[in-house]
Amino acid sequence: MPEMLEANVALLPGDGIGPEVIAEATKVLGRVGDLFGFRIQYKEAPIGGAAIDLTGVPLPPATLKTCRECDAVLLGAVGGDRWDSLPASVRPEQGLLGLRKQLGLYANLRPIVLWPQLASVTPLKREIIAGKPDILVVRELTGGLYYGSHRRFASKRAGGERAQDTMSYTTREVERVARVAFDAALKRRKNLTSVDKANVLSCSQLWRDTVGRLASEYPEVRLAHMYADNCAMQMVRNPQQFDVILTENTFGDILSDLGGALAGSLGMLPSASFGRGRRALYEPVHGSAPDIAGMNKANPLAAILSVAMMLRYTFGLLQAACAVETAVSDVLDAGYSTQDVAGGRTVVGTSEMGDLIVSHIQEGGSRTCVATR
Ligand code: NAD
Repeated sequence: MPEMLEANVALLPGDGIGPEVIAEATKVLGRVGDLFGFRIQYKEAPIGGAAIDLTGVPLPPATLKTCRECDAVLLGAVGGDRWDSLPASVRPEQGLLGLRKQLGLYANLRPIVLWPQLASVTPLKREIIAGKPDILVVRELTGGLYYGSHRRFASKRAGGERAQDTMSYTTREVERVARVAFDAALKRRKNLTSVDKANVLSCSQLWRDTVGRLASEYPEVRLAHMYADNCAMQMVRNPQQFDVILTENTFGDILSDLGGALAGSLGMLPSASFGRGRRALYEPVHGSAPDIAGMNKANPLAAILSVAMMLRYTFGLLQAACAVETAVSDVLDAGYSTQDVAGGRTVVGTSEMGDLIVSHIQEGGSRTCVATR
């Protein structure tokens, strides 16, 4: 690391609780920057509904340019009822899908960790979470159903309307994300579960064959294949059997929300997306949560832990990343939490939680270091 790192981060707060959690994440970045001697310049840009309101499109060219010029992107969330009546092609979600595609971010890493302090908050029985779920979901992010053609049309033969969404994968698309998952498994417990629906879908058959073929290059990694429906059940019955889960775009989206229940709340799940270039995108797994937007109720820890991932992966500032994670652990130890993971704890608001994390960050804080690895 250079003596004084100066980095540019594109800040895309987005909609709903996005701006609220991103404000806390930048507060935390400011504190670790002061402590560890680096400075971040933010370039804020609109995306999603906020961009539609300003420019008429969910991903303005200027926003994409800003992201391309920065070292990393930090995003809040997009979407909300206000834009639900718009045609699918200009809805807020298209902003995020477009950004991921344009930046070539094909691998989305979603660590699902149950912080021990929140064990009583998960809906699962004590004996099921005793093994402390610690799963890394590697979700394919720029292919599959979300990037196929989407059509809805009147059909005389169907006697009404018909809708179609196509799903497609190439060998290369599967290979490149599978390599990310195998490499991640090598650094963890060397256990990889590839999740598909190969009993029904051609895409899944290609997926299974391709992942299976790659396995010979990673003899240390134990590979298992599992159907997506079974995986959903296994995640709540016996989550500790999983180390790294590799799966396609739609299954990964659904299974990682299930992971939100394992972790106590979606508000606890960070993510990082990597791809062709050096640039990565960091964002909480959750959406814009319109039901609690503007109420200072959102849990900012997913966004704050996404910042820890940014410090670790983009800037190589491992101690700073650990200091953030240790502060999260210390604040939970002290009995504070937002309302989504309350469980008899002292409930604080979004900005108070950010302040608590800031006040607990210490230079020597490197105790935890497990949350987002
Ligand atoms: P959501 O993730 O926004 O919310 C699901 C539930 O989790 C809600 O009850 C919400 O209050 C709660 N929740 C989410 N994040 C939380 C946090 N940080 N703290 C406390 N509680 C939290 O999903 P949804 O309700 O299905 O979607 C709402 C909007 O968000 C939609 O417009 C959807 O398209 C969009 N969305 C965006 C993204 C994204 O930007 N990456 C992801 C998912 C959904």
